[in-house]
Amino acid sequence: MSTDQNTGRVAVITGASSGIGEATARLLVADGYRVALLARRADRIQALADELGDGAIAIEADVTDRDSIVAAAERVQQELGGADVLVNNAGVMLLAPFSSDQQTEIRQMIEVNLLGAMTTTEVFLDELREGGGGDLVNLSSVAGRTARPGSAVYNATKWGLNGWSEALRQELQPDVRVMVIEPGAVATELTDHITHPDTKQAVEQMYDAMSITAQDIAEVIAFAISRPRRMTLNEILIRPTGQTL
Ligand code: NDP
Repeated sequence: MSTDQNTGRVAVITGASSGIGEATARLLVADGYRVALLARRADRIQALADELGDGAIAIEADVTDRDSIVAAAERVQQELGGADVLVNNAGVMLLAPFSSDQQTEIRQMIEVNLLGAMTTTEVFLDELREGGGGDLVNLSSVAGRTARPGSAVYNATKWGLNGWSEALRQELQPDVRVMVIEPGAVATELTDHITHPDTKQAVEQMYDAMSITAQDIAEVIAFAISRPRRMTLNEILIRPTGQTL
């Protein structure tokens, strides 16, 4: 989907070390964007940046550590001239029945999926505004609208992301367009981190049956941000899924 209008824009992608973030980085570089790859696994993003060439830089950053995001924003400003697109993609899905055993996982999901997206956005907001037309893409989920047992806190993070995004959409236009992507099951490393045995087995069976690919989601993101700015995407909700629910 290469288009000249994309050439020269700078996209910052959190969680670029695997799955949807990695696929999005590959596609946006192919489309002519320069990309900043953010994640904690420095070896993974450095290898990807090396492969992608001059269009990509790797920046080790943890979305729960504001100082690391501030440092990332400074590098993006200095080395790439500032961000035009921010893809809030970093996320964890530590599914399990809600209980005191899950204190660590509960906090981690909220800190990464919800507070991490908020922190990254407030840090990069000036760069998005200064570019003369920024795009903010938030990776929510069908879990932002459809709740299931074992998914309560993950549901809460994605439900929260949706409400926050909708208010921001109204608040930031026309300077920054806010888009929400709500994928269904996508084959990535996301399920690898589930530790509760029964939940892990059930989720993996569901994913084996109906997951779509990270490339599918990358194509949706690339399409959304390639739309002309006269399209504010106000009423467009993108929900790519292989699931019936
Ligand atoms: P992956 O597990 O493959 O990718 C998650 C990414 O998040 C990794 O690159 C990881 O990088 C990064 N990450 C996790 N914690 C942090 C942190 N503290 N700071 C910075 N980066 C972090 O899963 P997906 O690609 O599937 O997930 C991407 C997004 O898509 C998530 O928000 C997820 O909720 C959402 N989504 C996924 C679906 C699916 O079925 N796969 C469906 C719907 C939505 P590292 O560990 O190197 O820091």
